[in-house]
Amino acid sequence: MFGFDDSLDLPVAEMAQRVRDKDNPLTASKLVETSLLRIETLDAAYGAFLRRTGDLAREQAAAVDAKAEAGEDPGPLAGVPLAVKDNLAVPGVPLTCGSKILGEYIPPTWATSVKRAVDAGACIVGKTNLDEFAMGSSTENSAFGPTRNPHGTAFVPGGSSGGSAAAVASGMAPLALGSDTGGSIRQPAALCGITGMKPTYGRVSRNGLVAFASSLDQVGPMARSCADARALLEAIEGVDPLDATTRGYDTAAQNGVDLGSLRIGRVTEFALDDVPGGEPAQAAVERVRSALFETGATDAELSLPLVQASIPVYYLVAPAEASSNLARYDGVRYGHRAEGGADLMDLYARTREEGFGEEVKRRILIGTFALSAGYADAYYKKAMATRAALRAQFDSAFAECDVIVSATTPTCAFKIGEKADDPLAMYLCDVLTVAANLAGLPAVSVPCGKTAEGLPLGIQVWGPPGRDGLVFDVAEQLEAMDGCGYEAPEVTS
Ligand code: GLN
Repeated sequence: MFGFDDSLDLPVAEMAQRVRDKDNPLTASKLVETSLLRIETLDAAYGAFLRRTGDLAREQAAAVDAKAEAGEDPGPLAGVPLAVKDNLAVPGVPLTCGSKILGEYIPPTWATSVKRAVDAGACIVGKTNLDEFAMGSSTENSAFGPTRNPHGTAFVPGGSSGGSAAAVASGMAPLALGSDTGGSIRQPAALCGITGMKPTYGRVSRNGLVAFASSLDQVGPMARSCADARALLEAIEGVDPLDATTRGYDTAAQNGVDLGSLRIGRVTEFALDDVPGGEPAQAAVERVRSALFETGATDAELSLPLVQASIPVYYLVAPAEASSNLARYDGVRYGHRAEGGADLMDLYARTREEGFGEEVKRRILIGTFALSAGYADAYYKKAMATRAALRAQFDSAFAECDVIVSATTPTCAFKIGEKADDPLAMYLCDVLTVAANLAGLPAVSVPCGKTAEGLPLGIQVWGPPGRDGLVFDVAEQLEAMDGCGYEAPEVTS
């Protein structure tokens, strides 16, 4: 691809296998150099990376190659370049979260997920751009400028993990880590034509992930294929004493479901018939459903009325948790501190005024209001009760179907700037993704064709909690269908 050494375009398992095999000339160092060269050449056009970590990647690659040379196993991700969303901690590497408020904050410890990927042999090539504190759906809310979609640089890559999505879609790195609080892995994956997966809540440790909304946040893999994404998930998942919400699950476990006789749920409330610009996504859903039925799967039509409340519920619960999580950025403990505060309160206020962007301030205001005395019953508590009822509706739905198939996003990528002044239009980008976070479900987005203008579309497979292996199994079937799966973008610059 792009006239570069193409070993970086191999499936991840094969790439790593060649590195592990010391008689094969492919080394981790070679993969890392190829990735760094691609970043050097391509990223001026995309702005996917906030920081390149060449020295770290080279050091990690040398350690992998030394292990292979010594006959030790460097792991299932041996030498595979990894892009890391810049809300995950890597010790010694500045962490910005796309915000000015963290200044040049340097975390002292690892995010568990990143450390596990590195222990499996992955090499970190850089930290990727995101909407400030992961709040957004376009990566335009980054304090360091937007990221562009590799399939058309006038378009957004989605968000908030837009940098990670663009890095993978453009071939700069075969694997990336993202975080998904309301769709931030799946929506940019769909808009950039790659695979992105939000694991069951509690499968992957949140330790070292900058908290946005702790009951919704989940770290997950982004890759060019389901097999690659699954390999990264298997490396990072598992119980972590540093995150009490983690639980033991096994992605590789057989789920005992015959793929030929699956009941495929269609949620009436996810239909896009009345959504302007929703026709291509709706047509893609119909196409893959028909193809699944040809393999023996059956149709399960379901109504989950509370899905219609998921945007209002999410935009109360997430800002409420965010307003509490972001209280720690006060100019005293981390990063940026405003000059010349008259007293402590004034210092806090000026620091937060200067350090946070507009969308983050909007969320803090909404969340603080929703939690305040006299309003908490009407807003936060009502939202939490509705969330519990929505979860119960999904439990009943999964008694009648094995998986749900829907579009990932109502429309393909939009132009940079198009929704920047319209927060409600931006929030509606998440209408098909937030329910999975509210209910803690696993969901994966796979590329399924393009619009007439050549912009990718994603299809989402949802499963019951803990059945991450099953959603991947079904997503793999979709990926193999005609017109689906990853396609490298035509270089647009
Ligand atoms: N777009 C959603 C929001 O702005 C989801 C973000 C996310 O998943 N981090 O909150």
